Amino acid sequence: MPREKKVEEYDVVIIGGGAAGLTAGIYCGRARLNTLLIEKALVGGLATYTNDIENYPGFPEGATGLGLMELFHKQAKKFGVKFKGTDVKSVELEGPVKTVETFRTTYKAKVVVLAVGGRPRITRAENEEEFLFDKGISFCATCDAAANTGKEVLIVGSGDAAIEEGMFLTKFASKVYVSIMHDEGTMDCNEIARNEALENPKMEFVWNTVVKRFEGDDHLHTVVLEDLKTGNENPIKVDTCFEFIGYVPNTEFLRDIVDMNKQGYILVNDKMETNIEGVYSAGDANEKFLKQVATAVGDGAMAGYCAERYIAETDKYESQILARDQFVYVYDASCPNCQNKLKEIEAMETETDGRISFSKADVYKSRGISNRMGITEFPSIAVVRYGKIIDVITGDFTRQQLERYL
Ligand SMILES: Cc1cc2nc3c(=O)[nH]c(=O)nc-3n(C[C@H](O)[C@H](O)[C@H](O)COP(=O)(O)OP(=O)(O)OC[C@H]3O[C@@H](n4cnc5c(N)ncnc54)[C@H](O)[C@@H]3O)c2cc1C
Repeated sequence: MPREKKVEEYDVVIIGGGAAGLTAGIYCGRARLNTLLIEKALVGGLATYTNDIENYPGFPEGATGLGLMELFHKQAKKFGVKFKGTDVKSVELEGPVKTVETFRTTYKAKVVVLAVGGRPRITRAENEEEFLFDKGISFCATCDAAANTGKEVLIVGSGDAAIEEGMFLTKFASKVYVSIMHDEGTMDCNEIARNEALENPKMEFVWNTVVKRFEGDDHLHTVVLEDLKTGNENPIKVDTCFEFIGYVPNTEFLRDIVDMNKQGYILVNDKMETNIEGVYSAGDANEKFLKQVATAVGDGAMAGYCAERYIAETDKYESQILARDQFVYVYDASCPNCQNKLKEIEAMETETDGRISFSKADVYKSRGISNRMGITEFPSIAVVRYGKIIDVITGDFTRQQLERYL
């Protein structure tokens, strides 16, 4: 008989434990939300792949990716975030209770924060699958630099990660070849890295090339490059090939569930809201211009903060708006007409000795409550009966009109 899956309930479930997810966790935990973070690999995410993070503020001497992420992790744990090391297989995100499925457990949550990041893109050259990871193709200089001490390695790519990690590798390897698809001198990295790399005597650039084939036995020993101009093959003997040619978002399991662009990056607004209420997305998995720890942290903070607001608004909506039969005056405190009408309804309350009375919902700072009511024009009066909004009066209203509901 199939084993019954365990069910656990949380305020917030965060999927992904990189910089974005951990920051969202810190904000949710600190707001005293019952928060679970699910990470399928190493807590810390992609940042743990790099040895030097020199551009994250607050660390003038730089930090190791692993060291920095350990601090994030410690801080999230300090605020009570719980961690589970498992892979999220599927999600159901519509409605007030979201469901997150892992192999053994079903997690239910009021809010889900997606912080699933990306993974390294591969070249798709011949035989690549045979040598991935521990067989000679690596995506992590930090992890594999020491094992290449005194050896020859090849870097594929010319962006910031390729060139900076390549320079880091020159501290260990005897030679670092760099395969670049562009014309001589053209690289995708920043100018400082480019100039330093070009002057580095241990680096040798192979311009206008892409990987044609990987060769080896039980371990990679040769990368065959193809010259894009002549078509000539150039076999390079190496111990490890490091690929730094970009990333693909880990969003396959979210396809047709949240809105994303053609490349699979999630579309959010400036509050990290996805197209689904109560579902936020932060970090490298989002369509965005700059994918860095600092920007992932900013996104995570916004998602965590908005998760807290969303839950508070939902609680208010249920406990103060829907809990009793009433009129709710929904207004925007910054609009003069709303202010005038507010005086009118207060006068009506006095005239009727409270027979007609109103709750007031000011949506100046957040439209969360009015969105839940389906109200887009202000002021409006929502008529609540039996735990439901049965009518909305927008614009002018009279005492007689309201008396009909009593
Ligand atoms: C080699 C290298 C060097 C870099 N150097 C720098 C640098 O110097 N400075 C800088 O600011 N940035 C640097 N970056 C970029 C930085 O690492 C990323 O921008 C940052 O880590 C993004 O964080 P994130 O939380 O969005 O995603 P990630 O760090 O990718 O975290 C996402 C996490 O989600 C998990 N996950 C995905 N799907 C699931 C699922 N279904 N279930 C459970 N878990 C899931 C993944 O396992 C992963 O751990 C570098 C990146 C690399 C690779």
